[in-house]
Amino acid sequence: MSALDSFIAGLPKAELHVHHVGSASPRIVAELAARHPDSPVPADPEALADFFTFRDFAHFVEVYLSVVDLVRDAEDVRLLTYEIARDMARQQIRYAELTVTPYSSTRRGIPDAAFVEAIEDARKAAESELGVVLRWCFDIPGEAGLAAAEETARIACELKPEGLVSFGLGGPEIGVPRPQFKPYFDRAIAAGLHSVPHAGETTGPQTIWDALTELRAERIGHGTSAPQDPKLLAHLAEHRIPLEVCPTSNLATRAVADIERHPVREMVAAGVLVTINSDDPPMFGTDLNTEYGVAARLLGLDEHGLAGLAKNAVEASFMDAAGKARLNAEIDAYTAAWRRP
Ligand SMILES: [Zn+2]
Repeated sequence: MSALDSFIAGLPKAELHVHHVGSASPRIVAELAARHPDSPVPADPEALADFFTFRDFAHFVEVYLSVVDLVRDAEDVRLLTYEIARDMARQQIRYAELTVTPYSSTRRGIPDAAFVEAIEDARKAAESELGVVLRWCFDIPGEAGLAAAEETARIACELKPEGLVSFGLGGPEIGVPRPQFKPYFDRAIAAGLHSVPHAGETTGPQTIWDALTELRAERIGHGTSAPQDPKLLAHLAEHRIPLEVCPTSNLATRAVADIERHPVREMVAAGVLVTINSDDPPMFGTDLNTEYGVAARLLGLDEHGLAGLAKNAVEASFMDAAGKARLNAEIDAYTAAWRRP
């Protein structure tokens, strides 16, 4: 491990763009598969590692859907959530806003209240036992249409669990225009939630403008195409609207053709608040520490630059002021005490 990798491995971090089911590592999937022996997903770790090796986007969707199929009851939800926090703790992630899609579970027959209770139980246990603070972003799976939007907004506003901070929109962008989701975002915002839709990952800058004007986005998931519109970049920088950048995911989904030409450099050069995230880490063969390494290389960052990146995520998070001050102090103390091996 290089000196910079060692620094990253120990650096206290926050993560803002990471999906619930998409965070199921082979270890977690093996546990879920063992609970459901009738599933076609192998429970054997070696076979699973092979199953998980990223081949192409179609294979990613196949893996993702087979994991969705393993989350069948509230206990599966609790186990998945808690074990994700365990994987985060190992990477020194102190705080994460996890994108959760309640619709995937309620559609499968898990009652909404049982789903919410399961993630909240896991959240409390993760905080007290693992030192990982979890918060939720409930997101609309865009491909499932307005019925899913209605269900997601209803669960968010009616059940509004303690850990819920934001409302999102994921799934494919092509053929799924953002403005149609405005009424659901209006309701979520009126209920006190922050707006954090995915936008401009596989479509152009207009989708990002739509997310800003129609969905009142406070942060943008991906925003990969933002540098195609200098006016948009200037707007994001001026209004301090952060981008949740996920480099390896962008390469895996072909949102970016060549990692060496990832637009993160232009985003940073324009003064945009950039955060680095892992999206669906095990499915893209990555984790947050790996993504920090990729960002360090692309942006030419040393330890101090990386600490700055970690602090960007703190600033862009929906933590309260005391929580932000605490994590920033921890990042500073770690950086000050760091000695190159
Ligand atoms: Zn995402």
